[in-house]
Amino acid sequence: ISETKACTGCGVKLQTEHAEKLGYVPAQALDRSPIICQRCFRMKNYNESSGITLDHNDFIKLLSHIGYTKSLVVNIVDIFDFEGSLISGLPRFVGDNPIVLVVNKIDLLPKVTNYNRIVNWVRKEAKEFGLKVVEVVLCSAKQNMGFDRVLAALDEHRGGRDIYVVGATNVGKSTLINRLIRDYSDIEAELTTSQYPGTTLDLVKIPMDDGTFIIDTPGIVYPHRLTELVSKQDLVTLMPDKGVKPRVFQLNAQQTLFFGSFARFDFIQGERQSFTFYVSNALPAHRTKLENADHLYAEHKGVMLTPPTLEALELMPKLTKYPVRIPKGKMYDVSISGLGWVKVNSDSGADLAIHVPKGVKVAVRESMI
Ligand code: GDP
Repeated sequence: ISETKACTGCGVKLQTEHAEKLGYVPAQALDRSPIICQRCFRMKNYNESSGITLDHNDFIKLLSHIGYTKSLVVNIVDIFDFEGSLISGLPRFVGDNPIVLVVNKIDLLPKVTNYNRIVNWVRKEAKEFGLKVVEVVLCSAKQNMGFDRVLAALDEHRGGRDIYVVGATNVGKSTLINRLIRDYSDIEAELTTSQYPGTTLDLVKIPMDDGTFIIDTPGIVYPHRLTELVSKQDLVTLMPDKGVKPRVFQLNAQQTLFFGSFARFDFIQGERQSFTFYVSNALPAHRTKLENADHLYAEHKGVMLTPPTLEALELMPKLTKYPVRIPKGKMYDVSISGLGWVKVNSDSGADLAIHVPKGVKVAVRESMI
């Protein structure tokens, strides 16, 4: 295999020797055109997580490289999984370069949404996370919402510099980059890949008409997102394809809700109150008494409590319980990375337990909506 061949999907250098390493392509697949690495092939075709990912160290190395350049960093996050798609340590590694935070998928928010409030919320949460950004822009790469503002923000902050685009997997980075390319150049969305000298990592450099580059970086895979743990079929159910319809449940203490077999929500202690669930409309909810919940799950997981199917469930980490205490005095959300979030509609406090596949990130935050 010639040394110059690179994957047209992710830009990594291709190799046929080590199946467990980046850039692997089976020898018999070399005739394919365009040629992509097995990992991209799988992601495209099965959404199978192949186990070969850009690990955290390599990702940090790549980010540090950005620190030695003069560039604008565009960090794309997913509004539907805000905590889960933030990159920890980003400002430390990109040096003095300004960061524009592009918050994608706002089409998934309910129809009636106060976007100013969302921008303020994002600013505050980003700041608490230690992420200093020059601007927050909301958009939907898919529905073409807010894109003018993304372009305006980039023009304002780039000062003739290259643009590095960073993000976790599945935040919509490719969709957004394709839009950028269409706006900044005449190239018909065909990615010109070339390796960036001086790193062992592979970046896709896309030349713009003004002589600068948009540089696409590999997406970092965060296994703490439920969306990384499920099959392609279940991903379709988990990821809303249009605005979520908030679902409100009046619950007494000692009641439980299941969302398929993916997640279980126990209201353990607190005044009777309502909870609003922002999860995919396609995911069915099932209410029961807390005392019956263990038995119900054992008997009906993957069958009545579905998706996923029993077979798919067996490939996922076991449900694990995370106790959550909601403090008094303010409105809070409990976010479940990759699933969505629950708004607690009372400021009287509550004791909850969230059961999710082991490793999925559960966080309490001030409520977004
Ligand atoms: P990447 O892994 O970050 O490059 O993400 P992709 O661009 O491949 O998008 C990941 C998934 O999110 C795909 O299923 C897209 O259709 C979807 N997606 C991307 N942008 C949006 C958006 O603005 N809204 C919605 N609802 N989905 C989006």
